[in-house]
Amino acid sequence: MKLNNTSDSIVLTGYTGQIGSEVFKLKPDALLSNHRLEKDLSNLQNFLLQNQPNVIINAAAYTRVDQAEKDRPMAHAINVAAVETMASVSQKISSRLVHFSTDYVFDGLKREPYLETDICNPCNYYGTTKRLSESLCLSQPNISGVVFRTSWVMGAYGNNFVKTILRLGMQMPTLKIVDDQVGRPTCSKLLAQAAIEAASKNYFSNRSFQIVHLTDDGEPVSWFHMAKYILNRARDWNYSGIEGNKVSPISSAEYGQAARRPKNSVLSCGVFDSLFDTKRTHWQHTIDTIIEEIAKDEW
Ligand code: NDP
Repeated sequence: MKLNNTSDSIVLTGYTGQIGSEVFKLKPDALLSNHRLEKDLSNLQNFLLQNQPNVIINAAAYTRVDQAEKDRPMAHAINVAAVETMASVSQKISSRLVHFSTDYVFDGLKREPYLETDICNPCNYYGTTKRLSESLCLSQPNISGVVFRTSWVMGAYGNNFVKTILRLGMQMPTLKIVDDQVGRPTCSKLLAQAAIEAASKNYFSNRSFQIVHLTDDGEPVSWFHMAKYILNRARDWNYSGIEGNKVSPISSAEYGQAARRPKNSVLSCGVFDSLFDTKRTHWQHTIDTIIEEIAKDEW
């Protein structure tokens, strides 16, 4: 297995998603998997066996959290069965596996930030599938790699909370935003940089597979306070009709989503900080950058 080698070959799934598109920007020579994971697993397996990559970065997932409650077979196929195939091929061809999971593997009842070693108790079906994917990576004998457990991913590509708030902030007189779920956003670029670092990290030479929490830095925040921050920053970029005082707080119960979310989504990132060179920045910086990039793109 090659280590710390910039010529390491990478297969990337989910390259059109928030994280995948950032990985692709950093590694434009990555081999892209176009396989539909719910039905094309044997072709994916052959593709991996033929190309024998040093690293598989799996940024594909069924991420529609509320729909997953009803669409269980599809969510399971993409988030569990496909990961099982990738993990088993990784083992066969000695490639490292980089995978992503979620704060939704926790029930959110803990009062402090969650550690990697805390007991999981997924709060919805999406979280259940992601926890299953973590467990099967960990239980695969002799594979090396990492699962980044992250939360509230946002970036300039794809759909995310910042874009929704900007759109609604321009369209609606008031926005009711949940104030009883607290967490930390995570920059999609940060996750991509960490994935690339993990891909070449030599501590994986001992064939360990581990879960590492990774979010932006900064004080935890509720969706409501984050929405306020977004609108205030957007006003600086002259988005028409946008004002921070348009937001009012509501509870999760009032909002009434199909899938339950943890009240506490805060992940402790000390393990990441001690193992990785990639630096986490404040979530406000992530939001400022996204708003600036979108504003410059559109005008
Ligand atoms: P996105 O929803 O932005 O992108 C998902 C990617 O998966 C897309 O490229 C999509 O491609 C691909 N995909 C979906 N279904 C299939 C399928 N059936 N076959 C092949 N590819 C498929 O996801 P993110 O980038 O936000 O998330 C990446 C990872 O991070 C996932 O593991 C997710 O669980 C995890 N995560 C995300 C969080 C978030 O807030 N977004 C929070 C915590 C963890 P296509 O569009 O062509 O279907």
